[in-house]
Amino acid sequence: MARIKKTDRRTFMRNLGIIGAGGILLPGMMSFSSRVKPSVGSIARRDKKLGVALVGLGSYSSGQLAPALQETQYCKLSGIVTGTPSKEDEWMKRYDIPKENVYNYDNFDSIVNNDDIDIIYVVLPNSMHAEYTIRAAKAGKHVICEKPMATTVKDAENMIKVCNDNNVKLSLGYRLHFEPYNLRAMELGQKEIFGPVQNFSAGFSGMINNWEWRLDKEMAGGGPLMDLGIYTIQAACYNMGEWPVEVTKATYGEVTKPGLFKSVEQSITFTLKFPNGTTSSHSTSYANNESYFEAKAKNGWWKLNPAYYYGYIRGETNEGSMRLPNVNQQARQMDAFALSLMDDMPILVTGDMGLRDMKIMMAIYESADTGKPVKLDLEDLNIPKYDLHQTINDDLYS
Ligand code: NAD
Repeated sequence: MARIKKTDRRTFMRNLGIIGAGGILLPGMMSFSSRVKPSVGSIARRDKKLGVALVGLGSYSSGQLAPALQETQYCKLSGIVTGTPSKEDEWMKRYDIPKENVYNYDNFDSIVNNDDIDIIYVVLPNSMHAEYTIRAAKAGKHVICEKPMATTVKDAENMIKVCNDNNVKLSLGYRLHFEPYNLRAMELGQKEIFGPVQNFSAGFSGMINNWEWRLDKEMAGGGPLMDLGIYTIQAACYNMGEWPVEVTKATYGEVTKPGLFKSVEQSITFTLKFPNGTTSSHSTSYANNESYFEAKAKNGWWKLNPAYYYGYIRGETNEGSMRLPNVNQQARQMDAFALSLMDDMPILVTGDMGLRDMKIMMAIYESADTGKPVKLDLEDLNIPKYDLHQTINDDLYS
């Protein structure tokens, strides 16, 4: 299929009500072209890939993001930021990164002067996300921040504000918005292909071994909820195209490894209530393995299992197996962000989406701590629904 021309894409957006007449973006969607661009140089270019700098060269950067950046079409790995000098030579050689594009945490802010870097990707422990997103924004760079967005709602709000104030775009590492099985589930749910969702359940759990900072509440913000359960919250929201109005119940699980789980929960279960009255039930734990969601609608059902892994996802509906490709989720996610910057299009995974999830997770902890339901007010957030997912994903490599 031929790439939709930019004018056609804008017409499509207008028809969706995403941009108003005259190309004015609706509240919360800053116009890219009308911004004063800081030091990023001419970013609206198609003949050159946008440069990405990875901040933090731990397991996700080295195992997934750097390899994915060898497959991207609209961005490439141009720089690194690391506090470990021994990694510098290895990464420069392996990925052909020039010395002048290598930074440490002290000289990071001088990246403002580097026109090779358009996008900073923050892949640090959760408590460091806010500081490095803000420093990147102040250096005039667009930002992708890993999940969870931050460790507090206040930090998440501040990250959005500073990115807006500095005229840069912010996105999050929510890779499943670019994954075919999850996209199909979004379509089934949001378009009510089997009628409205009436019941939703989801679980994401994994065994923990040596992930030290993940056991430290100061650095992680919480336990499996912040790390894995966040995917199940996302799944409930994008299957229904709605955000919860209440955490009806949350309960911490039994601690079977007290030596490890002194600071964060070992497991937690919770239920969320949605505006249409549907309830979703969730489990997440560092003590067992599960990766699924299941939606029951009026006239049918669908489930993914595994639902959240990279590289291997399976799904079925009451009509049979979903036969869809497994893709490089991280490459698609980064290409989609780069393409939206180049094409002056809305960002699919917005800062508001990360803020919503932070608010939900903090309410879940409050409910588990108090034993009471906690109401949520998540209105007025800029969070795209399925139609924009379809446009951006269809357009990505067409
Ligand atoms: P990791 O522990 O493997 O890497 C963290 C990196 O941060 C290391 O390079 C470490 O040296 C560096 N660092 C800098 N200062 C540090 C400090 N004070 N303490 C500890 N480390 C410090 O972690 P990871 O698994 O790569 O996770 C990094 C981020 O990526 C987390 O926010 C995590 O939630 C997210 N993540 C996302 C996905 C996804 O699928 N989207 C998958 C894995 C991780």
